Amino acid sequence: MLAEEERVLLSAHSIQVIDVPIVSIENHNGQMHSLQLTDGERVKREGGFVASDSKQSAPFAEKLGCQMTKNAGIETDSLGRTSVSGVFACGDTLGGPAQLVLAAAAGSQAGMGVIHELVQEAFQEKTSL
Ligand SMILES: Cc1cc2nc3c(=O)[nH]c(=O)nc-3n(C[C@H](O)[C@H](O)[C@H](O)COP(=O)(O)OP(=O)(O)OC[C@H]3O[C@@H](n4cnc5c(N)ncnc54)[C@H](O)[C@@H]3O)c2cc1C
Repeated sequence: MLAEEERVLLSAHSIQVIDVPIVSIENHNGQMHSLQLTDGERVKREGGFVASDSKQSAPFAEKLGCQMTKNAGIETDSLGRTSVSGVFACGDTLGGPAQLVLAAAAGSQAGMGVIHELVQEAFQEKTSL
């Protein structure tokens, strides 16, 4: 749902907003040419984007009590640490853009986070001897 200020902005750029649900996307040989709306109107369009919501498909982070983002991702710091001690997260589970390069980078960061924590743990164990 668009906020009023977003509607004003779109209108200022001569972008029409139609709130009527789409019944079907009509095509010729697989090439989209129009949208059939529920009110009977047919709107000519040659392309479009689909806006989708993301939801977390793996339930374990929430079950462990990890803080989640508003995009249903797992909240982490720059080293992949979640709000639960000893639990790290990276990749698509963070709920950001789903891209291989970002997932790999977050995995590398989380790896550094794990090493950092293990080294600190070993250091503290030796200190308490
Ligand atoms: C159709 C499609 C096309 C894409 N095209 C591109 C593209 O062109 N370029 C690009 O950069 N990105 C693309 N992506 C996104 C990219 O694939 C992901 O961002 C990336 O794979 C995320 O890596 P990941 O390691 O976080 O998750 P994944 O690669 O999804 O790996 C997660 C792994 O965890 C396993 N798993 C899940 N649940 C459990 C569980 N409960 N226990 C144990 N294991 C579990 C899964 O089986 C999987 O092997 C595409 C994604 C899709 C779906």
